[in-house]
Amino acid sequence: MTAPVARRLAVLELRTVGDLFKHLPIRYETEAAEEGVSDALVASAAAAPEVTRSLRGEIVKLRMIPGRRPRIEALLGEGQTVVRLVWFNASWMAKKLHPGMRGIARGRAKVRQGYLEMVNPKWETIGGEDEPTPDAGRLRPIYGATEELPSSRIEAVVRSALPRVIGLIVDPLHEALRARRGLPLLAEAYRMVHDPSTLVEAERGRTRLAYDELLSLQLAMAMRRWQVRHLVKAHPIEVTPAIDARIRSRLPFDLTRAQSGACSEIAADLARTMPMNRLLQGDVGSGKTAVCVYAMLAAVAHGHQGVLVAPTEILAQQHLKTVESILHGSKVRVALYTGTLRAADRATVLAGMESGGFDIVVGTHAVLTKEVRFKSLAIAVIDEQHRFGVEQRAAIRAKGTGGATVPHTLVMAATPIPRTLALSFFGDLDVTSLKGRLPGRTAPTTRVVPSEKARDVYSWVSMKVRNGEQAFVVVPAIETSVRGLADVASHADALGHGPLAGARIGRLHGQLSSQEREQVMESFREGSLDVLVATVMVEVGVDVPNATVMVVEHAEQFGLAQLHQLRGRVGRGGKPGTCIFITEPTTALAQKRLDALATSDDGFAIAELDLSLRGPGEFFGQRQSGLPDLKVADLARDFALLMEARADAEAWVGTTGDLTDPRDALLRRKVLALYADTLGLGDIG
Ligand code: ADP
Ligand code: MG
Repeated sequence: MTAPVARRLAVLELRTVGDLFKHLPIRYETEAAEEGVSDALVASAAAAPEVTRSLRGEIVKLRMIPGRRPRIEALLGEGQTVVRLVWFNASWMAKKLHPGMRGIARGRAKVRQGYLEMVNPKWETIGGEDEPTPDAGRLRPIYGATEELPSSRIEAVVRSALPRVIGLIVDPLHEALRARRGLPLLAEAYRMVHDPSTLVEAERGRTRLAYDELLSLQLAMAMRRWQVRHLVKAHPIEVTPAIDARIRSRLPFDLTRAQSGACSEIAADLARTMPMNRLLQGDVGSGKTAVCVYAMLAAVAHGHQGVLVAPTEILAQQHLKTVESILHGSKVRVALYTGTLRAADRATVLAGMESGGFDIVVGTHAVLTKEVRFKSLAIAVIDEQHRFGVEQRAAIRAKGTGGATVPHTLVMAATPIPRTLALSFFGDLDVTSLKGRLPGRTAPTTRVVPSEKARDVYSWVSMKVRNGEQAFVVVPAIETSVRGLADVASHADALGHGPLAGARIGRLHGQLSSQEREQVMESFREGSLDVLVATVMVEVGVDVPNATVMVVEHAEQFGLAQLHQLRGRVGRGGKPGTCIFITEPTTALAQKRLDALATSDDGFAIAELDLSLRGPGEFFGQRQSGLPDLKVADLARDFALLMEARADAEAWVGTTGDLTDPRDALLRRKVLALYADTLGLGDIG
């Protein structure tokens, strides 16, 4: 490989041969067998008009023809024979071409004015020292490329490296496992993806590489589970019938069957010295808080402490209120710890956490910072997990009593997480799903309304407000945006001067300070505002029982799971809620998504649909999982493979423990390189 090629490869982050091999084709093209320009070709082409062809040759002449439809004419030739290539309105092509250059033109060829001619063909420059041999209609890999370094060039480099490198690839998979899963050797898999003879073969190769990627992730998860279980201990907390009865009598309502079931699963975990590591997921308003309070009270009954970590101040405050109201009149001492506490209060709470003066602490991620120490933290609850990454779970674990004692951990997800994602990104957790609604709750009515009916919607909202009910209006943007989406300020103004004149309208968005946000939210909650115009930040957990109306502007801009979450914000106080999604004229797919939402109320089903329509990255938002991206595997498509990889990883780690068998050294190194940091592997105990 020459130095300039190496430099151009580096632009694509391709620095080593390994990088190059991992730069997989994005697709494959089957091509018409390539033909050199020759008399025989021209003769046969003249007899078979309008066939798609791949012609290889040298540009022998080039000219620009100005006029109403400016065009470029190139003669592509070999010896005395030429064909004519014509590009219309493509001045940029002129810069790419020069006489003497070799390349392949692809397109429909027909005879015109005595020439065999192609109009607007695809052009690929070849030549230099790596000119690929002509293809006999083979499958060609198409790589992500740059202007400087076309796909064909990458292909040439990979093909020349393949035979030399393939013998050096060590396969980290045990032969028996590989055979059982019917996977090709790693070296063979690389050959199959880069130089397949059929699409089936390319897919077999890809499957092996995707499997390896998923296996690494699942091995990391399995190792983490193994380490958490074997290298560290938690305080065993037995929830005796007496403790269970005492906690239940404290709660202001009877637990539903689903909640009771979740509590017993958690109680079974807590009873062991093996630390609990559980995900509690359920729809908005499925009653997760009561379950986590149950768990924390179990710890307190044994003289230990519990902490509940929320993603925002507002939510921490709300949880504090809930916990306090549940514990009203009891001896349990509860404190709030957030980043905005005044110095004196902060010192008091810090001292109380360390001395055991507080039993339950509710806070934001500020409780994860170094200065926070607990006397005996036995359970940590992390709420609204999708805003936290795996790192936070490791940080909270470090808050144990010291040595190898860590708290039991309960993670609560704000939205149902599709099974695929739960397994891949929270694969180190056991999962409890809270299904069904709380007693007396009815699903909000959902309507999808075109934007030209918006006035009717708001006059109806105005009537609701006059009846003393409250409404959220969610808009997609904070500032006036180029795309013409409604933003908080101008939409609030428009409503205040128009259909909602006379209503008290508040504004909430992420550019306010957390104190300002707090104030606005508090005013809305206590009823001194009628309408809250907000960005999607109201999505998370905030409880305003008197809010019955949710209007979402430009609903087509939001994810399904997000809309479902927004819908859960209303009708939480006994009065039924109504949710209105206002949409701009939109695509059939977008319409389908919204219709699905209007007809389904099952958060789990909606989450699956959202994942399949938008992909995992979008579903989670930018890198919220904190884990490295999957490069080959596609969770929507490779679910079965994921399950296989998961089972294999479990079995593997189950028999060899921490992957310390010398035979697994290579794989262990690979897993640690990818996941040690984010999963805190290896540094436990
Ligand atoms: P989420 O799962 O969204 O966190 P919450 O825990 O905030 O839901 O519960 C929603 C509301 O339902 C709260 O006001 C809570 O007090 C109430 N609630 C929870 N469990 C029950 C129950 N078993 N019976 C009646 N109301 C309940
Ligand atoms: Mg909640």
